[in-house]
Amino acid sequence: MSKTIDKIAAKGILQPGEVALVGSGPGDPELLTIKAMRFIEQAEVAIYDRLVSDEIMALLPDNCEKYYVGKQQAQHCVPQDGINQMLSEQALLGKRVLRLKGGDPFVFGRGGEEVEHLLANGVNCHVAPGITAASACTTYAGIPLTHRGVAQGCTFITGHLQNDGQLNLPWQSLSSPRQTVVFYMGINSLPTIAKELIAHGRDGNTPAALIRNGTRENQEVYRGTLATLAKLVKQHNIKPPALIVIGDVVEQFDSKHVGKLGYMKALVAPATAQQEAV
Ligand code: SAH
Repeated sequence: MSKTIDKIAAKGILQPGEVALVGSGPGDPELLTIKAMRFIEQAEVAIYDRLVSDEIMALLPDNCEKYYVGKQQAQHCVPQDGINQMLSEQALLGKRVLRLKGGDPFVFGRGGEEVEHLLANGVNCHVAPGITAASACTTYAGIPLTHRGVAQGCTFITGHLQNDGQLNLPWQSLSSPRQTVVFYMGINSLPTIAKELIAHGRDGNTPAALIRNGTRENQEVYRGTLATLAKLVKQHNIKPPALIVIGDVVEQFDSKHVGKLGYMKALVAPATAQQEAV
């Protein structure tokens, strides 16, 4: 396997004084990209978030310094300015700095702000995209994000409440059928999301799912409808990180076929050669 990977020329060389902003995906270490792995191996300092899984943290070199800057909702461990500062300071000390983030750094990850800060301070940076939660968590839960004739498109949107407790989203366009809508950070606002979508015309019976700890061994998937999902969250006291998926694709595959973590079970025996010939 590693021989196969070696055949891909390494473009991601992290020089002293540079930062690599790396998306680590939603948790399963097998979803890391080869580029992400190469940056991880070169890290002298790692500045990481709450959503980076333990298995991925275990891949860091033994002598790598580690700084946790994760955030809990509304309770920032290190404010964004502090994170930016830390990144440029470590780089300007001449270290090879790894900024490790959950999912993709540029999808609800504030990676753009970090890049802007680093460039303004004369620090070179690499950005390695990661698999974003919406893609991997739905796949591992047996939900295709789009499906011909069922969902023509897909929207990723934040359900994070604004500071004034409001959630101002383009409800009308999110309510049109034949599209999948994935909410990041939407658990606390789920009752509002459901109410607004239904008020703007989305059918309350639209299949909906909530995926918690997606792609990890402790992945939980709850299926219901747009009208019932908020009740499930309350009943099971579901806490972040979780993703909300709304759309007919949630029921595309019969749940009997959906195993754990992206495994799809065939329930019929394979056709024999003779049967095929008929
Ligand atoms: N940059 C990340 C998103 C960070 S925002 C990405 O591209 O995936 C944090 C939100 O992402 C969480 O509140 C949750 O909605 C979602 N999320 C991230 N990892 C997740 C996981 N393993 N399972 C379910 N949701 C996840």
